[in-house]
Amino acid sequence: MIIVMKAEVEPKSEDVRQVVRMAERFPDVRAEVRIIQGATRSLTEVYLLGSTASIPLEPFQEFPAVEKAIRIREKYRSIGRHDDQSEAVGFEYRGIEFSQDTFHVFPGLCAVDSADNVERMFRLLQERGIKTTRAGAYKPRTSPYDFQGHGKKCLPFVFELAGKYGIEVVSMEITSEGHIEEIHDALAAAGNPTGVMLQIGTRNAQNFELLKVVGSQTEYPVLFKRGMGITLDESLNACEYIASGGNSKIVICLRGMKTNFGDPHRNFVDFAHVPVVKRLTRLPVCVDPSHSVGKKVVAPDGLLDIHHATAQGVVAGANMVLVDFHPRPEEALCDGPQALVFDEFDLFMRDVELVREAYLARVKLFSS
Ligand code: PEP
Ligand code: MN
Repeated sequence: MIIVMKAEVEPKSEDVRQVVRMAERFPDVRAEVRIIQGATRSLTEVYLLGSTASIPLEPFQEFPAVEKAIRIREKYRSIGRHDDQSEAVGFEYRGIEFSQDTFHVFPGLCAVDSADNVERMFRLLQERGIKTTRAGAYKPRTSPYDFQGHGKKCLPFVFELAGKYGIEVVSMEITSEGHIEEIHDALAAAGNPTGVMLQIGTRNAQNFELLKVVGSQTEYPVLFKRGMGITLDESLNACEYIASGGNSKIVICLRGMKTNFGDPHRNFVDFAHVPVVKRLTRLPVCVDPSHSVGKKVVAPDGLLDIHHATAQGVVAGANMVLVDFHPRPEEALCDGPQALVFDEFDLFMRDVELVREAYLARVKLFSS
């Protein structure tokens, strides 16, 4: 059960304490106060955990400071959209808003190779007014003989260059708990010139211990990538591990499913699930066309399959696009063949802009 307080009610106020006291008078019930950063305002919610099935809603609804009491489904307790819960969960990080209403593109390197290529990438983004990117330092690879990422040794130059070129958020995959500390230390040593969104890769979507670790910290937001070989329900439950640990700064990323039915793409593109995830959860949704399609092939209409897949995600309401670019893909140490090149950047962004406009026009059309 969730008790949503009225907009102006502070989490530490007497009103909230009263609600907590009443909740904890019921046997086997624990109350937890959470602050939900909505798209337009921040809300205080009191979560009643434990045996809540027979607790009536009315006594809570009678408090003047309570906006509403909601009985939540057992499923996706923290990330789910329950009953008439209309407020999406969003967050602000390094001055950038993330919610089901916002839209950001994260173009960047799949993996950090050289400082020179990172600098070329970040400079291009600054020239185009983009403050969000991706840059992999820790790469989980199918083969142990493939490049595993430069790890912590590249962090100083990545963060320094991010600061130099005005990058505010770098999406960076981590594969173990120690990586968070390495990122934290490197950011601090560089004077915190940028921020990091901790990416949980598809291969770790059910690494529950790692999910608990990123969920028990609130310093960094998390980009959770859907598991490639599990159901959507299993992925959302996995994501719930992060939120139930106390960190609701999460973006869910669709990146295609592993099945031969998706051939000839690297993965079966699942972007029709963008509205599904927005309906089932209150979290912003990202799409990753690069890892879904996995190759640069041109359709007869002249657009790359990557362009088409991106558009399918964006026209369905995606809030974020993670996409591989590389100044010299022939030098890339990971996923070079799927990276777009700089000459393709402006067309890609213009196309994305057109499709986002089309999405907003569609929403308007159906709301009138
Ligand atoms: C990535 O984004 O670098 C990546 C490895 O993606 P995924 O975990 O979706 O395969
Ligand atoms: Mn990759």
